[in-house]
Amino acid sequence: MTYQQVILRRGKERRLLEGHPWVFSGAVGQHPDGVEPGATVDVLDAEGVFVARGYYNAASSIPVRVLTRNLGETIDANFVRERIRRAIDLRRSWIDQKTTNAYRVVHGESDGLPGLIVDRYADFLVVQFHTLGVEVMRDTVVDVLNELMSPTGIWERSDVGTRRADGLAEFPTGLISGDEPPDLIEVSENRALFAIDVRRGQKTGFFLDQRENRQTLQTFSRDRDVLNCFCYTGGFSIFAARGKASMVVSVDVSQPAIDLVEHNLRLNRFDPETHPCIAANVFDYLKECKANKQTFDCIVVDPPAFVKTQRAIPQATRAYISLNRKAVELIRPGGLLVTASCSTQIDYESFFTIVKHAASAAGRAVQIVKSHLQAIDHPAPVSFPEGRYLKCLFGIVH
Ligand code: SAH
Repeated sequence: MTYQQVILRRGKERRLLEGHPWVFSGAVGQHPDGVEPGATVDVLDAEGVFVARGYYNAASSIPVRVLTRNLGETIDANFVRERIRRAIDLRRSWIDQKTTNAYRVVHGESDGLPGLIVDRYADFLVVQFHTLGVEVMRDTVVDVLNELMSPTGIWERSDVGTRRADGLAEFPTGLISGDEPPDLIEVSENRALFAIDVRRGQKTGFFLDQRENRQTLQTFSRDRDVLNCFCYTGGFSIFAARGKASMVVSVDVSQPAIDLVEHNLRLNRFDPETHPCIAANVFDYLKECKANKQTFDCIVVDPPAFVKTQRAIPQATRAYISLNRKAVELIRPGGLLVTASCSTQIDYESFFTIVKHAASAAGRAVQIVKSHLQAIDHPAPVSFPEGRYLKCLFGIVH
């Protein structure tokens, strides 16, 4: 099988040879003629030497996403099957299937299938096709998932902005195979129960990447009162309650999310009377607490990404500092700050610096006791810094 060729500018092969999966448009010296968007191409260096093979889309700022660096590997259904099989095996060997049945099965670039997300929620799968290149593989992906995982149904949630950047005009959602999922799918995460709304929920329905950080919070929660800011459907709240927190206050601006926190508390036999669920803007809520001199033993701060472009970094940094300062101010001496950022553009070191500035602005000292990235089912190749997007720091506030 021969493929059309993309020729790189001189020296632009270096990152690819290290294993980075993206060819940016500025790196391309010569585009091929008449290649269908989404088709497989070979990437050659300026000397004409093979560097990588991937899918092509001239309309994207990333015209090639790498599928393999092995010249002998053909991109066909068998290739897709082997990549998905490898991703499934990784999860089956590292995630206890008896206590957890909600996890990411395929994490795009990090699993060698750029643009493809597959999440498992009990007997159902939810998929996202982020790019034209994986859109082309749609039928194969669905066949392979049915063959290897036998789900009851596969639901699509390709309502993602990245498709627009790839020149795709449609954002399909809905059933693509098997049976309709129920309104709420009940899943288990380390034995905690959660109801997932795959139709209307955020992303594919749940933030699976925080699993290990939620479990860490459980170990720090006994007899503490906990405020969970940006709680969504109560992931951190349920684990704090399982860790015997005296009270957990959950705050999110989304009323449907707050309704699900109450549902999830009951599902785990906790009483929403003891653990208040509040639909409010976190910034207003923190201001109110400050005015009322209300403090907490532990505050979790897990906001949505504040920054999506390089240009917005300074402004987002200020916003993270301000938010963390407000949280730190409300934590009793000796209490715990759990703070996360899922902005890819804010790297690990910068996030420590943000917490340093927040502590200093609040006139407090913070000792970091744990620092984590995203959970194991969201692996990040060392050659792909964009894959290390989630940072979560646990700090004692003095
Ligand atoms: N910690 C959660 C995930 C948080 S996602 C978990 O473990 O599942 C971010 C959440 O912030 C979303 O639910 C969104 O509705 C909420 N949000 C965004 N802006 C907000 C604001 N200003 N005030 C309160 N909640 C907000």
